[in-house]
Amino acid sequence: MPPLLLVPIHPVEIECIEPLRTVLQKIFRLETTIDTRAHLDAAPAFDAYRNQCNSSLLLTLLQEHFPRYEGKILGITSVDLFVPVLTYVFGEAQLNGTAAVVSTYRLNDTLYGFPENHQQYTERLAKEAVHELGHTFGLYHCLEYGCVMHSSTTVEDIDIKGTNFCMKCLHAVVKKMSLLSES
Ligand SMILES: [Zn+2]
Ligand SMILES: [Zn+2]
Repeated sequence: MPPLLLVPIHPVEIECIEPLRTVLQKIFRLETTIDTRAHLDAAPAFDAYRNQCNSSLLLTLLQEHFPRYEGKILGITSVDLFVPVLTYVFGEAQLNGTAAVVSTYRLNDTLYGFPENHQQYTERLAKEAVHELGHTFGLYHCLEYGCVMHSSTTVEDIDIKGTNFCMKCLHAVVKKMSLLSES
């Protein structure tokens, strides 16, 4: 498999990306690199009426920027994301596709009036990143509460689940990776 590519989309908290890279490399057992050349900006996906960015447009932006990339691409941004039918999303991914995106905007406890909790914030970001990348490997939402593929609507939902795949989801990802490596 080609390396997993992490792409900062400005505005972004750049210091959160290296720790995330380490976690993703361990979980997916794929070489994981950080793109430093694209300098992507979330502005084209900004919706002034909602004061948020359309996450689907960011996925398109990523795909247009890396049209021939054969691995998985994860965009990371600190802008608030939405899809038209929902108030907000933590991230979005192309099911069985190439691109995924996550936002750190709603992961920080300070947004909810609590003191900053850096470890929790880092864990939340890792879980959402693994979750969205899981979708790019064809995974749907999982009913297991502890599985990273369990769906999350609130940060409390994120805190309940783990960073890892349950055995069923893990097997599905490993199988998908071996199929992708053969083709
Ligand atoms: Zn999901
Ligand atoms: Zn699962």
